[in-house]
Amino acid sequence: MKTNILLISIFAFLFTSCSNYYSMEDFSTVEKIDAHYHIYTSESISLEQAEKDNFKLFSVNVYSGDCEKIIERIQSTKLLHSKFPSDFNYASTFCLDGWDEPAWAENTISWIDQCIADGAVAVKVWKNIGMEYRDKNGVLIMIDDPQFDPVFKHLAEIGVPLVAHLGEPKNCWLPFNKMTTKNDSSYFAEHPKYHMFIHPEYPSYEEQMEARDRMLEKNPELIFVGCHLASLEWSVDELASFLDRFPNASVDMAARMGQLFYQTREDYDKVRNFFVKYQDRILYGTDIIESENSNKESMHKRMHSEWLRDWEYMVTNNKMTSNLINGEFRGLKLPKEVIDKIYFTNAKKWYKIFE
Ligand SMILES: [Zn+2]
Repeated sequence: MKTNILLISIFAFLFTSCSNYYSMEDFSTVEKIDAHYHIYTSESISLEQAEKDNFKLFSVNVYSGDCEKIIERIQSTKLLHSKFPSDFNYASTFCLDGWDEPAWAENTISWIDQCIADGAVAVKVWKNIGMEYRDKNGVLIMIDDPQFDPVFKHLAEIGVPLVAHLGEPKNCWLPFNKMTTKNDSSYFAEHPKYHMFIHPEYPSYEEQMEARDRMLEKNPELIFVGCHLASLEWSVDELASFLDRFPNASVDMAARMGQLFYQTREDYDKVRNFFVKYQDRILYGTDIIESENSNKESMHKRMHSEWLRDWEYMVTNNKMTSNLINGEFRGLKLPKEVIDKIYFTNAKKWYKIFE
């Protein structure tokens, strides 16, 4: 009898210890959310692959182009949401047309309320605030500009998160030969307009981060999701102190896997401990874009391979290489409960979606 109990205990122990981690085989059976992707078409190629790989999609609308373009894009995401309510949700955005008019804030609040009534669950601001748009006096508009105050106050009051891509990766302020990841060097080679190293007349990296932090200090109740690891992608220590300082903030990982791989290569334990400690504040996302001319086959291939690569990094301790950085790094092999939060429940909770 005693032997039986012992055997049962050993089996129970082995079973729980074996099942504390996911494997590559679990990829398609575990429910996941890509909490940062973009869709600029009424097609739904991305949703087909998402269904195969057990992902739900959260599309983040960006204010680039003009107001009309924004209206068009939001209409099309609204339509997708009504077609796929349990698999697709989205963040709206607002434009800066009429910024110099006294009614700008009031009009923007009405626009936001309409977007929320239509199904959007969050509002996004982009790096063109701080890097591009100027007021009538030619002064660059920063995110802590008092004119935004009533808008962000309103978001805080109605409990709608502000999703923010502010500033850029720190690499943006460096010459190409100092950049730590290949995705950054190729992006800034293609988009010199945003390569701040060659535009020293624009605010520094630190000034961008300080403006964001001042805005958050003014709005302690605002729910904040910092895109791209809140532009603190270069240091999990910096990111940890940001999250400690602003308890209503979380971050998504979109398009910053390279910086995570890079830091993992340098200091594995530090990165792994960061993920474990801040497991409630990190949302998985990719920044994959479906546009009008996306080819179905290559789109599906890209989504599947990127999702699979990240899954390998997060759930296994395999030795890996990536075209994003030089050298080898190991997967983090995070426990199931951490994976479930980062891949699913955090996005559900922070955006109040797919409930
Ligand atoms: Zn994005």
